[in-house]
Amino acid sequence: MLSKIISSHTISKIEHLLDESEKIVIVTHVSPDGDAIGSSLGLYHYLIEQGNDVNIIVPNAFPDFLKWMKGTKEILDAEKYPDYAQRLIEEADLIFCLDFNIPKRIHQLASYVVGSNAKKIMIDHHPDPSDFCNLVISHPEISSTSELVFRVICYLGDFEIMNKASAEAIYTGMMTDTGAFTYNSNNAEIYYIIGELLKKGINKDQIYSDVYHSYSESRFRMMGYTLSEKMKIYSEYNTALINLTKEEQKRFNAKKGDTEGFANLPLNIQNIIFCVFMREDNDMIKISLRSQGDFPCNKFAEQCFNGGGHLNASGGEFFGTLEEAITIFENALPEYKILLRNSKK
Ligand code: 5GP
Ligand code: MN
Repeated sequence: MLSKIISSHTISKIEHLLDESEKIVIVTHVSPDGDAIGSSLGLYHYLIEQGNDVNIIVPNAFPDFLKWMKGTKEILDAEKYPDYAQRLIEEADLIFCLDFNIPKRIHQLASYVVGSNAKKIMIDHHPDPSDFCNLVISHPEISSTSELVFRVICYLGDFEIMNKASAEAIYTGMMTDTGAFTYNSNNAEIYYIIGELLKKGINKDQIYSDVYHSYSESRFRMMGYTLSEKMKIYSEYNTALINLTKEEQKRFNAKKGDTEGFANLPLNIQNIIFCVFMREDNDMIKISLRSQGDFPCNKFAEQCFNGGGHLNASGGEFFGTLEEAITIFENALPEYKILLRNSKK
C-alpha cells in the first residue's frame, strides 16, 4: 500500500482543475533528464488516455538515450519552435510544471509561464519551491518527480487507467534519478511502486538496457579521456574535479546528453565523497556537483555557482571562463574542509 503523502484536499483541487481545463501544457526543466522526460510522459499518457488536449514543451533538446520512450516525438523543443511554444503556453488553461522548483530552470520559457493566465500545478522534489504556481506539490523526500506523478495518478483513483507507456516513462524517471536504485532509494514504497508498474507490463531490464547500454563509441572514449587526462584529485578534501572544454567535446563529436553521468564517476574512487564536473557550454560553464553521505553539494552549488538542487546531486551555471570557475571552486574548498573530511561515503 502507498502511504498518503498528498492531502485529499490537494487531490480534489487537481481533479477540479483538470475538469475545468481544455488545453493542458506540461513544461519541464532545461536540459531535460530521465526524470524530467519520464514524469512529463508519465502524466502525458495518463491525460491523453482520457481524451485531454495535452502538449509537452521542453526548453531545449533532450538526450537520444531517452528517445525510445513512447510519445517523445510529440515533445515540442522550444529552442527549435519558439513561437509555437509561446502560443501553446499563452493558450493553455492549465500548466503542469514538472521536476523544477524555480522559473529560472525553464530558461526562456519562464516569462511566458509565469505571465500566463493559466492555472499552474507544480509537481516536484527539489527543496525550496518558489511561489509561482496555484498548487504546489513539493516533496524533496521523494527521490523522483516521476514517483510523485505515479502517486498523484493513484490518489486520483486512476491506477486502472494508467497505460503501459505511462508506466514505462514513470519507471524510467524513478530509475534515472536514483542511479538505477543505488542512491536515494531506501524508501520501501519505491519497490511497491515498481511492483505495480510491472503489472502494467513494463520490462524493467529492457528499460535499463535502453537507457544505459546505448552509448556511442565516441561518448565512451570521451569518458575514458576525461578520467585519464582531465581529473584532478584533492585528497585532503576527499574531492575530485573533472572538466571538459568545448574543443575537447567537439573532438569527441559530443552530442546532447553525452556527458550525462560523468559527474558521478569519480565517486567510485575510495574516499572521494564530492565531485564537481565543469563543462564548457556555448555561453557559460555548466557545473554538475555530486556527493555521497551528508555532504551538501547543493549548498556548495548555491554559494559558488548561483545554483542549487538536491543534497547529493546539484548544479549551477557560471558565466565566465573555465579557469575562473576552477579558481572559485578551489578557493571555496577550505571552507568545507571539516565537512568534507567528516562525511561518510
Ligand atoms: P545535473 O548535474 O544532472 O545537470 O543536475 C543535477 C541536479 O542539480 C538537477 O536535478 C537539479 O536539481 C540541479 N541543478 C542542475 N543545474 C542547476 C542550475 O543551474 N540551477 C539550480 N538551481 N539547480 C540546478
Ligand atoms: Mn528529478
